[in-house]
Amino acid sequence: MSMASKALIHFGPYEVTNEVFYKTSLCYALVNIKPILPGHVLVIPFRQVQYLSELNPDEVTDVFMTVQKVQQMLSKTYSTSDANIAIQNGVESGQTVPHFHCHIIPRSKPNTEGDGFYNRLQGEEGNIGGALWDQSRPKPVGKFPQLDDEDRHPRTKEEMKKEADFFREQMAMID
Ligand code: AMP
Repeated sequence: MSMASKALIHFGPYEVTNEVFYKTSLCYALVNIKPILPGHVLVIPFRQVQYLSELNPDEVTDVFMTVQKVQQMLSKTYSTSDANIAIQNGVESGQTVPHFHCHIIPRSKPNTEGDGFYNRLQGEEGNIGGALWDQSRPKPVGKFPQLDDEDRHPRTKEEMKKEADFFREQMAMID
């Protein structure tokens, strides 16, 4: 397909066509301009809506089946079955791009430390009725990493395209 005939893909206001590494009829998977950890990617419906509640049943199915498939690829690539899978659903929950997207962040032992809101959510403050829990319950590890880290720098289009090309090849191996 020539570049001219390739439909441009947008994530909110951003044109991200060359950074997309997987597509279905209803959604796509995108490498991240500012990954929190290696392999941090996004799954996004083509239709631009802000909230999970605005997805129709076909989109919900397609987005989450794609999340499963992309995570399978990341598991193989990063040799871990663990990942944070997160949605910031609206501005007040931390959403910065008003186009629904699901984060997938592979996790393995060396990167299980984190900080911020998700730490508290996973810790005792987030355990509603936690005081009633069995004292022997396991302690959570692998806290969710902070999503707004000013120290992270945006990657160039070239860097992102290179990673997208690599993940596209990896996806082809599990398809
Ligand atoms: P959220 O804060 O949940 O809205 O997440 C937005 C995510 O999109 C963050 O992980 C950003 O790093 C990522 N992001 C923003 N703009 C782009 C872009 N142009 N291409 C790829 N990822 C982006």
